[in-house]
Amino acid sequence: MEKKKRIVIALGGNALGNTLPEQMKAVKITSRAIVDLIEEGCEVVVAHGNGPQVGMVNNAMIALTHEDPQQPNTPLSVCVAMSQAYIGYDLQNALREELLNRGIEDIPVATMITQVRVDPDDPAFQTPSKPIGRFLTKEQADLMAEKYDYIMKEDAGRGYRRVVASPKPQEIIEIGTIRTMVNSGDLVIACGGGGIPVTRQGNHLKGASAVIDKDFASCLLAKELDADFLIILTAVEKAAINYGKPGEKWLDDITVDEAKQYIEEGHFAPGSMLPKVQAAVEFAESKPGRQALITLLEKAKDGILGKTGTRIHL
Ligand code: ADP
Ligand code: MG
Repeated sequence: MEKKKRIVIALGGNALGNTLPEQMKAVKITSRAIVDLIEEGCEVVVAHGNGPQVGMVNNAMIALTHEDPQQPNTPLSVCVAMSQAYIGYDLQNALREELLNRGIEDIPVATMITQVRVDPDDPAFQTPSKPIGRFLTKEQADLMAEKYDYIMKEDAGRGYRRVVASPKPQEIIEIGTIRTMVNSGDLVIACGGGGIPVTRQGNHLKGASAVIDKDFASCLLAKELDADFLIILTAVEKAAINYGKPGEKWLDDITVDEAKQYIEEGHFAPGSMLPKVQAAVEFAESKPGRQALITLLEKAKDGILGKTGTRIHL
């Protein structure tokens, strides 16, 4: 039998929704797309973002400090850990149910609470860039900036969001356990929200005030697991050049060199499409045969069959 294709899927915000009920609904649709790939004969590992959820947890924890002055502010790393567990809980149950509904009874599903080491000297700590939380109006954003000292930025024409530091992932602490589980056939959810950012202090791992981009964490996970494919599922079917401008062109199949050229020309917005294309390039050029795909959640199966999406290869 041909060896199964190993795929790391990175789920974007639209795969999870913005509120508790939205997430409960969204994970059902997301699970269908993921189990479609399993039925196509792929071995799947799931990573996901946490922008809205980590913002929500953070706001809830701020509210707690107002209610009870004894409670100190919750570090962002703890908020990421909470978001991993919450998203993992919904996602693993939805996946389990979808597998069972299709008569697949031999694939256990589990979420791995994952820490990802970052470099304390990463320049990203000096220039926060990662949007988290809800989209706000200019007035709401100004209020948040004044009240909580947050840095607020406009996000790809869709409104204002808080931005936090987004250092590059250096090492997945739990990779050994993740690999063992994947190799034994489990469906693993790992590196949620890009992983809990930590720095190493001797034997101690210290939580960092940051949110790692899930696109880069998924790329590292895919490399570490020697995956064949990195699939980044998001809210657009393809990446475009001249996005939203005259001369807009959706990209089907591009080489790493072409992608690098488009990056250089500034076609992809930082904080949204740019990290996806950068992660795709980094994965595709890391070993011959590796490919990356950026497409819509609902089109994952068509994407893997070569029918749609932006495919990036050497
Ligand atoms: P996710 O939650 O999946 O990471 P993001 O919102 O971070 O999603 O990034 C996807 C968004 O990037 C798209 O919905 C689109 O609005 C935006 N975008 C920015 N530049 C481009 C581009 N060049 N081509 C396509 N989409 C782009
Ligand atoms: Mg994103």
